[in-house]
Amino acid sequence: MTSTTDEQRSVASQRPRARAPSVSFVSLGCPKALVDSERIITQLRAEGYELARDHADADLAIVNTCGFLDSAQAESLSAIGAALADNGKVIVTGCMGAEPEKITGAYPNVFAVTGPQQFESVLAAVHRAAPPQHDPYSDLVPPQGVKLTPRHYAYLKISEGCNNRCTFCIIPRLRGDLTSRPAADVLREAERLVAAGVRELLVISQDTSAYGVDLKYAASGWRGRSVPAKFSELARALGELGVWVRLHYVYPYPHVDEVIALMAEGKVLPYLDVPFQHASPAVLKRMRRPAAQEETLSRVRRWRKECANLTIRSTFIVGFPGETDADFSLLLDWLREAELDRVGCFRYEPVAGAAANDLALTVPRAVKEERYQRLMRAQREISAKRLRSKIGSRERVIIDEVAPARGSSPLTAKGRTKGDAPQIDGMVFIQSRRPLRVGEIATVKIERADAYDLHGSIVGY
Ligand code: SF4
Repeated sequence: MTSTTDEQRSVASQRPRARAPSVSFVSLGCPKALVDSERIITQLRAEGYELARDHADADLAIVNTCGFLDSAQAESLSAIGAALADNGKVIVTGCMGAEPEKITGAYPNVFAVTGPQQFESVLAAVHRAAPPQHDPYSDLVPPQGVKLTPRHYAYLKISEGCNNRCTFCIIPRLRGDLTSRPAADVLREAERLVAAGVRELLVISQDTSAYGVDLKYAASGWRGRSVPAKFSELARALGELGVWVRLHYVYPYPHVDEVIALMAEGKVLPYLDVPFQHASPAVLKRMRRPAAQEETLSRVRRWRKECANLTIRSTFIVGFPGETDADFSLLLDWLREAELDRVGCFRYEPVAGAAANDLALTVPRAVKEERYQRLMRAQREISAKRLRSKIGSRERVIIDEVAPARGSSPLTAKGRTKGDAPQIDGMVFIQSRRPLRVGEIATVKIERADAYDLHGSIVGY
């Protein structure tokens, strides 16, 4: 057995280091892809690689692509082209890597193409392109890994892949069937993030409420007890960490009702991101959405009764093949009844390889556009009405940005209520007479509302 003496350590620290190889990184797509990027970067930093700001300054470039829609594929191809022009040595990974011929067809000179979730293949390609110069004396990676989000919030990926087969989606083909992480594994990562200063955990996956089905809900040990790999049990345990816990991509299965109780108890944020996609049974059937939708209106009402301050976010697709005027009217009526707080809308776009491409009765582009505009107008009114009802209330707000102080004017800052997820929902524009810190959770008196955002002042300390 050998041991490192002080002398050896001192020689090592004085040894001139060869320049560490550097990597530039482009991360495209959804928060799930961002988590993959963080994982790759964390590993590269652990191996001693530097991160370069520009492709031109790096030894090689990695592009983590999104292949969900044709427009996302076009953006990915353009990012690969830009990396090739500036650097020349480009490794492509992510969703588009599942169809390598699309990439090599456009750019035969890419260095390597790996598929989604193939971390080992990405790292092997990086080692081939620029071998690591590991120096254990100076390579430091924070225990929570490298995060691409601001320090005060973090995405927490609980599973990968999906067992559903929605006809407009190719995610299961790209990422495979549902594979959940054991609960203890997720909880330990969450603990590390909280210890590193994270105040808000954003739980993500392709289908959050299906969590653990593949593990048959097997329990794992955490803090001296067994935690089953079950959506509501995991949410409850995360709620013990003392930070905001926000649940995304919750499919409206019946057991979702269990987490509404946790929201009412204040264990997790009263925020539900449920992708309903449509309200017409005929369209939902063609989309092959697995949950029965007839009940959703009464469920939304029941959820709100159980948890009065619940914010519901959803996404919808307009112009799906075969969507008639009657289907669309039904959707608008449903939306006006449900009064969802936050809504994202997509004009249907065929995705290469999706089963929906075989459906007849394509909706003309102009009709799609008109329906999109009508839905967004209706939602704007609903959102404005719901936000108006908050005027005069006091809301807990997490501070995302603080503007530099200007003379004796009040400080201005941007933040989010419990009902606003970063990047996709509204903001609270804040004035404050006292200094504020990014990541702080403060009380704000709401004074004004517009269609999507709130305005108010800090009250109390
Ligand atoms: S639930 Fe449907 S839309 Fe979501 S990832 Fe699975 S197949 Fe795709």
